[in-house]
Amino acid sequence: MSVLDAETAVLAKMPNQTLTVVTGGGDYLQMAQARNEIYQNLSAVPTTYGTGLDGHLGLAMSAAQYQLRAGQAFTIPVDPGPYDLTIGANVGVNAKARREALHQEARQAYKIYLAVNSVIKNQLKQAMPRETIREIENEIDGLNGLTIIAIIDHCMDRLGQINDTLVDENRVHANEPFNANGGMAAYIRRIEQCQLLANDANEPFSDKQLVRMGKIAVGRTGFFNLEYKDWIKKAAADKTWPNFKTFWMDAYKMYDDMNKLTATESGFGANSMEQQITNAGNDIALESAMDNLVAVMSSDRNAINEIIATNAMLAEQNRVKDTTIARMAAENANLVLIMTKMVGNKPVTEKWTGTTKDGGRKLKKTDDTPFDPNGYCWSHGYRVHFDHSSANCKYKRDGHIVCATRANNMGGRQRNKDWVKSK
Ligand SMILES: [Zn+2]
Repeated sequence: MSVLDAETAVLAKMPNQTLTVVTGGGDYLQMAQARNEIYQNLSAVPTTYGTGLDGHLGLAMSAAQYQLRAGQAFTIPVDPGPYDLTIGANVGVNAKARREALHQEARQAYKIYLAVNSVIKNQLKQAMPRETIREIENEIDGLNGLTIIAIIDHCMDRLGQINDTLVDENRVHANEPFNANGGMAAYIRRIEQCQLLANDANEPFSDKQLVRMGKIAVGRTGFFNLEYKDWIKKAAADKTWPNFKTFWMDAYKMYDDMNKLTATESGFGANSMEQQITNAGNDIALESAMDNLVAVMSSDRNAINEIIATNAMLAEQNRVKDTTIARMAAENANLVLIMTKMVGNKPVTEKWTGTTKDGGRKLKKTDDTPFDPNGYCWSHGYRVHFDHSSANCKYKRDGHIVCATRANNMGGRQRNKDWVKSK
């Protein structure tokens, strides 16, 4: 395979054949867009040197950012050189074959790496303003001597100045709640996009901050209570952003599968399950559909049993509460009665006279204890209880004046005017 063939093959794997062209002197959003397209292109070309999930992404991302995102370093492929026959000759046949295979693989990886580099640099050249590239390119070998990261950094520096408004908006965007419609992948993508912008603004979120934001977001959904507990229980060292992504992608997938199943069952009625089975048209589909249905129903039943038990418990707690409240109300009434009979904060020894028909004791009619020597009520005159005044009178007469007092009775009632409280 020639070098050009390799480049063609590499380009064919990339989702963006060209990058968005940065125009009008450029701005941060245009630059970020172009860089995103580079990230997508690099991720699409596999290599043996990354996580296996993000291809050559490490070629365009700083070591720190790549580590934060992938949880491991990216190794830039190096030229293994020609196979050393003398080393191969000193070992057994199998070991020799293995070394040859490894060497072959390293050569291949290096070749792809060169092709990827060349393709991305060409794309950058076409998308960035000519004068921006001219500042860094060499007269003879163009951009060959520069890494992709260095070129992107230079263009960002010249064209992608970030302003405070963007940084503030980004922070708000990062803390927006998790949206179940978008799913976990969309959530993680959003956070990582925000992380890139924060990093460009020289205020990157730390691994801990990313995990914290994510934890709060999933916790607030209320969907993942069990998984949330499992996550909290993990050792601090395991609570990294890359681990967070794996853990919550799995948790969300389970939730999502379950949700789809439940939606099918309850959303379209029983017929839809039959329809689904008919459409599937074979026994295996029928069996798994029924298994799923049973799983959903039994989990529903468990949930309902739990709700019934909880309800019964709440009803009992309510009943106890009602009894307590009734008892307290009675005690309160009794306290109020006692307080009205207090003189100078001293409880009064009541004066009893005779007994009622059913054997209870009778309070003397002439007992002055509950009456306020300084009290007055416009409707009831001078001999009134401690808790009775013009202001709070319960049985007001016509023309009642609420601010009438003993000092200024405002033409109120004169009953018991000469009463003097007995000691
Ligand atoms: Zn009154």
